[in-house]
Amino acid sequence: MTLSVASILAESALRRPEHPAVVSGARKITYRELWDEARRYAAALRARGIGPGDKVALLLPSTPHFPSAYFGVLALGAIAVPVHALLRADEIAYVLQDSGAAALICAAPLLAEGGRAAETTGTPVLTVMEEERSSAPRLDALAAGSTPIDRQVPRAPEDIAVILYTSGTTGRPKGALLTHLNVVMNVDTTMLSPFDFTADDVLLGCLPLFHTFGQICGMNTCFRAGATLVLMPRFDGPGALDLMVREGCTVFMGVPTMYTALLDAARADPRRPALDRAFSGGAALPVAVLDAFRETFGCPVLEGYGLTETSPVVAYNQKAWPLRPGTVGRPIWGVEVEIARAEVEDRIELLPVGETGEIVIRGHNVMAGYLNRPEATTEAIVDGWFRSGDLGVKDDEGYLSVVDRKKDVVLRGGYNVYPREVEDVLAHHPAIAQAAVVGLPHPVHGEEVCAVVRPRPGTVPGPALGAEIVTWSRERMAPYKYPRRVEFVDAFPLGPSGKVLKRELVARLTTAAPHRPPDG
Ligand code: ATP
Repeated sequence: MTLSVASILAESALRRPEHPAVVSGARKITYRELWDEARRYAAALRARGIGPGDKVALLLPSTPHFPSAYFGVLALGAIAVPVHALLRADEIAYVLQDSGAAALICAAPLLAEGGRAAETTGTPVLTVMEEERSSAPRLDALAAGSTPIDRQVPRAPEDIAVILYTSGTTGRPKGALLTHLNVVMNVDTTMLSPFDFTADDVLLGCLPLFHTFGQICGMNTCFRAGATLVLMPRFDGPGALDLMVREGCTVFMGVPTMYTALLDAARADPRRPALDRAFSGGAALPVAVLDAFRETFGCPVLEGYGLTETSPVVAYNQKAWPLRPGTVGRPIWGVEVEIARAEVEDRIELLPVGETGEIVIRGHNVMAGYLNRPEATTEAIVDGWFRSGDLGVKDDEGYLSVVDRKKDVVLRGGYNVYPREVEDVLAHHPAIAQAAVVGLPHPVHGEEVCAVVRPRPGTVPGPALGAEIVTWSRERMAPYKYPRRVEFVDAFPLGPSGKVLKRELVARLTTAAPHRPPDG
């Protein structure tokens, strides 16, 4: 049996050749044009000695070069290794080295870091887009003069299609090996439900394409349906709102920080896109934000849960089901989700419904393993179950709630405090636009709960507001839970997919002098 992720684009080029696949600025690229371009990229790569099984790193922002290169690599039977476009030279070099990339396809504006990285590892570089000072050959120019390859190289379902490096939110990125089966199954399953994509949908592509959420849920699922992807290389709230209105977007997909930014933008801009539905994932979406978005944009907001290692979708709320805000819905088709005892690491001990433990996942979406890390793979996949590192609980109707990451739980005086729960309460405070809760070292309690707050525009941050938030929290949360320390930020440190980098907040705050309101 053969199966290839490249068929996702190939099929839609057959079914809807003249329909726009990608909108990028003023350019509209049809499915026929995009698939032709991908096959020309494949021909140019083949001419440079790249073949089936080779790994090709992609350091590309969300421009049409991304799908051309990604599907070009896959059509050749090679393995795509998308690299986070914001990484610095030494971090890129780590990915090139670890993956053993045979070439790096790099956008010209990213050449300063990408070129330096490739020099360290001796990886050949192919650029895309004009760059006069670069001596590296230009892949898009080479592709322009090539005849598209006739047909994709067949692959087996268990062959590796992409290597996606984890975000590194909790540590050094690891390369998750995703097979053609992993990706195709996740795309086919989620296209139908929860995403409900039809060929007439228009999706705002504001999630980075190098990240699993933007790439597999966004780009691939949209292409599988023959729908249109409106590329937005750098997200900002007002820009996203404007683009969705102008391009007639029907679907929004984003991480929670994007929802908050869109709500901020909607206060200043009365226009609204005709959104039919919106999908959130990647981090916990506070229920207050979900409600505000639904009211402001007039469409259901469906939250789901996934990880790089699970290709990525695990569970989602669906339009057809009763909406359960605060939950991530039920497992997608063909995927089992259970709760296991978190402290038992060498085997899986399942817990009954209603008990909190580690979320474990089994099914077609679980990666083949981590590249070059047999020990990490053995720790992560136990008896066929993938251990997510997240704590969760299931109710008797199968709805899953993500309690928090195991690593983010704050241990205060012997009590577990789940930051997400505290963040959900803080999201209701009128002066708070966004809050992230972290644990900071404390001489008596072991850790202390600290709320890092981005205030709403027009509110004055400072000790008085900090003290007021502490008092307000004390009235609403158990004594061991409420934040005794409040710090203000103008902006949060965000990872490449837009998630708050909590370990960076902790590092900053453990070196900064505290701004401590009176103890409660
Ligand atoms: P790294 O694995 O490198 O530390 P990362 O965990 O951010 O980075 P991703 O695969 O991008 O890597 O994210 C998966 C994680 O995102 C999950 O393990 C979970 O902690 C979090 N997550 C995803 N969706 C949700 C959600 N709806 N609610 C809460 N957390 C979520």
